[in-house]
Amino acid sequence: MKKIAIFGGTFDPIHNGHLYIAYEALYKLNLDEIIFMPSGIPPHKTKRKLASPFFRYEMVRIATKNEKRFTVSDYEINKKNISYTFETLQYFANKYPNASLYFVTGADGLMDIENWKNVKEIFKLCNLVVFNRPGNDKYDIIFQKRKLEEKYKGNIIFLDIPLLDISSTNIRNLISQGRNISCFVPEGVYNTIKELKLYD
Ligand code: ATP
Ligand code: MG
Repeated sequence: MKKIAIFGGTFDPIHNGHLYIAYEALYKLNLDEIIFMPSGIPPHKTKRKLASPFFRYEMVRIATKNEKRFTVSDYEINKKNISYTFETLQYFANKYPNASLYFVTGADGLMDIENWKNVKEIFKLCNLVVFNRPGNDKYDIIFQKRKLEEKYKGNIIFLDIPLLDISSTNIRNLISQGRNISCFVPEGVYNTIKELKLYD
């Protein structure tokens, strides 16, 4: 049975922290494919103005081009309305009825997931793969994992890896201060941000 993961994010911009956890997931879970899914209009981030979906998608495409098991989907950016994770998972469950589906998230996602629409359905459709992240306590994560598995009868895989303290928010802030962020993103992404002056 094929093992396919969806990795959702705003990717504004995609950075080495994202690639780090994607490679860890690929290796530790022996996945056949990770589908990076840049969000269209994200339900939780409607306040801040995001870089355009096309540029976020393009940066993900550039960042993932060296690994053939990494693919990028334009499913959410092409949606007219808000993109909900459960709908995306339904779409891929229909598209790949014989695959076992995974959804990759950082710990902040696990802590927040009960605010996501139709969380019950999410646990029915996929195995949730959770990575620790600076700002989230390991014991809180384990407690939350147990609580959710019990409540939704779902499967949560917690991958406790060394932390990499990188976030898109921090990258955007550094850029607005004129700082160099080339150590946080792949070269092609760095060049794209510079050329298009995405976060100046
Ligand atoms: P922002 O600061 O704009 O929210 P972000 O760095 O959190 O950006 P997202 O696109 O929101 O990036 O994240 C997509 C997914 O990747 C989320 O599940 C998030 O938890 C996870 N993630 C991002 N950076 C890391 C990191 N350094 N370590 C572990 N998980 C991460
Ligand atoms: Mg985030």
